[in-house]
Amino acid sequence: MSGPGIVLFGVPVRFHFTFVLLIAFVALGAFGDKRSAAAEALFLIGLFASVLLHELAHALVGRATGVKTLEIVMYPVGGVARLEKQPEPRPELAIALAGPAMNLLIAAGIFLALGGVGDLSKADKPDGIFARLGLWNVYLAAFNLVPALPMDGGRALRAGLAMWKGEATATRIASNTGKLLAVAMGIYGLINGEVFMMLIALFIYMSAAHEGAASAGKALTQGVPVRSAMITDYRTLGHGATLREAADMLLATSQQDFPVVHGDRVIGLLDRTAFLRGMASEGPDSYVAGSMDRDYLKLAPGMDLAEAMSSLAESGSCGLVMQDGGLLGLLTTENISEFLLLRKLGIQPKA
Ligand SMILES: [Zn+2]
Repeated sequence: MSGPGIVLFGVPVRFHFTFVLLIAFVALGAFGDKRSAAAEALFLIGLFASVLLHELAHALVGRATGVKTLEIVMYPVGGVARLEKQPEPRPELAIALAGPAMNLLIAAGIFLALGGVGDLSKADKPDGIFARLGLWNVYLAAFNLVPALPMDGGRALRAGLAMWKGEATATRIASNTGKLLAVAMGIYGLINGEVFMMLIALFIYMSAAHEGAASAGKALTQGVPVRSAMITDYRTLGHGATLREAADMLLATSQQDFPVVHGDRVIGLLDRTAFLRGMASEGPDSYVAGSMDRDYLKLAPGMDLAEAMSSLAESGSCGLVMQDGGLLGLLTTENISEFLLLRKLGIQPKA
C-alpha cells in the first residue's frame, strides 16, 4: 500500500501509510497532554527531518557517482532510499557512509550553535529539544554504522570486502552479521520484554536474509547467457489479429506476453497490461497492433542473465531475445526463477 509523496532535489519521497498513522497518533497525543506533547511533536519533526536528510545524502551522493535513486520511502522506524541498481564497491562505500555522515554533520551543527552539548534537563525548552535532537543524530549515525546488512555499516562492510573477496562472498558475510545481530537483539528484547526491539530485530533479520538470497540468486545467474534460460516454445500473434483472438490464446496457453509479428519481423509486444488496456479502451474487435507496445525490451542472446534480470525488473514486463532482427525466444521473471530452481537442483537444462 502506498502513501502520499513529494519530490525533493528531483528524488521522489513517499510516506508509507504507517508513517501517516504515526503522525495522526502524535497529533492525537498532543490533545491529551498539551505542554510536553508540543515539545515532543517539535522533537519528532526534527528527528523526521534528520532521517529525511540522511536518506537525501544517500540519494545525492548516489547521483554524483552515477547511481539513480528510484524513491525514498519513509517508515515510522526510518527511511529507505531505493537505488535503481546495486552500485560498484567504491560508489557503494561512498553512498553508504553519506547517510551517517549527514547525521554527524547535523549533530555537530546543533552542538556548535548551542555552544556545547546543551542542557538535556530542560527537555521542554528549545535548548533541551535541540540538545536531544543533536544526541539522537549521534545515535542515528552510530546505529546505522553497525557493520551488518541492511544497515549502512553493513553496506560499507560489503563494499570494503567486495574489493578483495568478490561481491557474492562479501554479501554473504554482511548478510550473516545482520542475521546474527538480529538474533542477539531479538533475544535481548525477549528477555527484557521490549516488543519494539523484537519487531526491529525481525525487520533486520528479514532484510538481511532477503539481501543474502538476492545475492546468491545473482551469483547463480552470473556468467550464464540469456539463451540458456529463455523460453523457446512460444506463440506469436499476427499483426492483423484482434484482441479477441489474443484473449483465446491467453486462455489456451500459459503464456501472458505475446510477440506481435508481421511476417518474420517483430513489430511489438502485447503483454497482459497492454491487452487489458486495449480491451478496456478499444474493445475485443480492435487489432492487437493498436494496443501493443512498440517500445519493448530487447535482449541479446549472449547477455548475462544477471544483467537481464535487472532490466526485466525495471521494465516490469517480458523481454524478447533477438538476434539480427529475428526473434529467438522470450524471457520472463517466472521462467528465470524456474531456471534458478533447476540449477539449484543441479540440472542444467541447456548448454
Ligand atoms: Zn542510511
